[in-house]
This record gives sequence, structure tokens and C-alpha cells, in this order.
Amino acid sequence: MNQTDFALVVDALSFAAHKHRDQRRKDRDASPYINHPIALMRVLALEAGLQDPLVLGAALLHDTVEDTETTPEELAERFGPAIRDLVLEVSDDKTLSKAERKHQQVLHAAGASEGAKLIKLADKICNLRDVVNNPPSGWDLARRREYFDWAARVIDQLRGTHPGLEAIFDQVLARRP
Ligand code: NDP
Ligand code: ZN
Repeated sequence: MNQTDFALVVDALSFAAHKHRDQRRKDRDASPYINHPIALMRVLALEAGLQDPLVLGAALLHDTVEDTETTPEELAERFGPAIRDLVLEVSDDKTLSKAERKHQQVLHAAGASEGAKLIKLADKICNLRDVVNNPPSGWDLARRREYFDWAARVIDQLRGTHPGLEAIFDQVLARRP
């Protein structure tokens, strides 16, 4: 990766860290939220060997529109329209109910762009790992299983995108509680 591409990725990390600064994950220790976007980058770059700066940058930013006050316009201005579009593709519509959002993810996964599918794969890999290793406090066995089953339904819609990432997904899926 050249210097310009690396700068984009580092700037995306810095921007995301700032935007998520007051948020925590749902695990017992309330981990810093930014560890989750960093985990996606780790999966994509180090485990799957992907180097596309747009995909890595969008992965770092993937929850900024959904979970912070960040606007699509802000992302376009800072990082360009391609990253904005990738982040929007992986952002739920928060005007919908939670159950409807989950259903929409299953419906829309197949039609997503390749970059968005890679980010979705990494997001589900990381969230399933979290459900196994650092589950949200208060989630009983049924809820953890339900989350695994929903994630598998989403990923089944986009198989054929990246065999390496899908194999990593299947490894964590095999750890269903
Ligand atoms: P989720 O069930 O969607 O919570 C999981 C999301 O939280 C993940 O997708 C992830 O999203 C984020 N997250 C943060 N910390 C963690 C962590 N440590 N491990 C895994 N994921 C984490 O959202 P809600 O809590 O809002 O619940 C909504 C849905 O849950 C409802 O639609 C309902 O169907 C179901 N539900 C089931 C119950 C049951 O007992 N079976 C009870 C109540 C609700 P991100 O990547 O965006 O951060
Ligand atoms: Zn996420």
C-alpha cells in the first residue's frame, strides 16, 4: 500500500475513534467501541490479506453513520463519495424497527456491492466472535443462538464473494453456543 492510501486508512481510524469516543460495546467490561472497527480491519487486512484502502477505510467507518451523529455528507467531504457509499450500504435504516432492520439485512445482502459484502462478512465475523468471547451482558443462551442464526442467514445471501472470509466466518459459526 502506498503512502497516500495508508494515510487514508489512518485518517479513517482517527476520525472513527473521535466519533465513537463516548461509546462502549455491550460486553461486561464495556470495551471501547473503536476496538470493533479495528477488529474488522484486522480481519480484512491481516486474516484475509485485503489491501483496498477504500474497503479498509470504510470498514473503520462502518458504524459512524448508524451509531453517531456523522452525516453521509461529512464522510464524502473527508473521504470521498466511494467511502460514503460503502458506509451507507452497510448502515441500517434507523427509522425502521429493530426486527425490520434485521430482516432488511437478509433481503439486501445479495444485492450489495462487492466492497460492502466484504465489510458485512468482517462485521459478522467480529460480532460472532464477540458473542462467543465477550457477549453482551444479559444475553441468555437463546439470544446468543438467535444472533448466530440471523448472522448465518445474512451471510448465506452473499456466499461466493470471498472464500477465505467465508471460511473464517464458518469457523466462528461452528462455535455457535
Ligand atoms: P442487537 O441484537 O442487534 O445487538 C447486537 C449488535 O450489537 C451487534 O450486531 C453489534 O452491532 C452490537 N454489539 C455491541 N457489543 C457487542 C458485543 N459485545 N457482542 C456482539 N455484538 C455487539 O440489537 P438489540 O440489542 O438492539 O436487539 C434487537 C433484536 O434482538 C430484536 O430485533 C430482537 O429480535 C432481538 N431480541 C431477542 C431477545 C431474545 O431473548 N432472544 C430479546 C430481545 C431482543 P454493531 O456491529 O453495529 O456494533
Ligand atoms: Zn459493526
